[in-house]
Amino acid sequence: MTKPLVLALDGLSATGKGTLGRRLAGALDLAYLDTGLLYRAVGLSVLKAGEPLDDPIVGEKAAQNLDPASLDDPALRSDEVASATSQVSVHPQVRAALLKFQQDFAALPPEGKKGAVLDGRDIGTVIVPDAKVKLFVTASDEVRAHRRFLELQGVHENATEATVLAEMKARDMRDQTRAIAPAVPAEDAIVLDTSSLNADEVFKTALAIVREKLES
Ligand code: C5P
Repeated sequence: MTKPLVLALDGLSATGKGTLGRRLAGALDLAYLDTGLLYRAVGLSVLKAGEPLDDPIVGEKAAQNLDPASLDDPALRSDEVASATSQVSVHPQVRAALLKFQQDFAALPPEGKKGAVLDGRDIGTVIVPDAKVKLFVTASDEVRAHRRFLELQGVHENATEATVLAEMKARDMRDQTRAIAPAVPAEDAIVLDTSSLNADEVFKTALAIVREKLES
C-alpha cells in the first residue's frame, strides 16, 4: 500500500489557513482535519466544568475523554474558547493525549482518501515530521486582527479592533513560546505570507507550491 500523502498546514490564528486547508483538500481529493478543534474541545470542556486551565491533569482527562462527534459544536469557535484553548494546549499531557488521533488520521485518512491535509500549529514539526509538503501560513498582526474583527461583526458586539488585536497577540505569544511544540515553521516548511493576498490568491499560490513540491 502506498504511503498516504500528507500536507502539513501550520500557522497562527486568522491567517486564512482553515479556508485554505479545506480548499486544498477539495482540490487534491484529500481528507481534511482541523486539529485546532481538538484542542478547542479540550479548552471548552475545562471551561464548562469550571476547572482550572493551568492544571495539566484536568486538561489531560478532558483530552482523553474527547468525543470526536462533539467537534461540530459552534461554541468551539468563540474567542473565549480560543484563549482558554491556548492555555490548556501548553500542557505536554494534553498534547500527548491528542497525538494518536492526529497521527492515525494522517496514516489512515477516512473515506479511503489517498492522503490528508492537517491544519494546526505543530503538524510539520511534531505530528507528521515527514509530511511530503509543509506550509506555514503567516500574515501581519494588523491584517490578522482586522480579518478576525470583520468575522466578529454582528456576533460579538463589544469587540473592537484593538481588543481583538490584544487577545490575538496574547494567544499567539503563548502558542509561539510554549516549551513543547511551539507554533514555529519546520525547517523544511515553505512560509506563505498572506498579508496582501485575498482568499483566492492564497489558494492559487498554495496550490502551485504544493503541485511543484509533489512533482519534485
Ligand atoms: O487553529 P485554532 O485557532 O482553532 O487553534 C486554537 C488553539 O489551539 C491555538 O491557539 C493553539 O493554542 C491550539 N492548537 C495547538 N496545536 C494545534 C492546533 C491548535 O496547540 N495543532
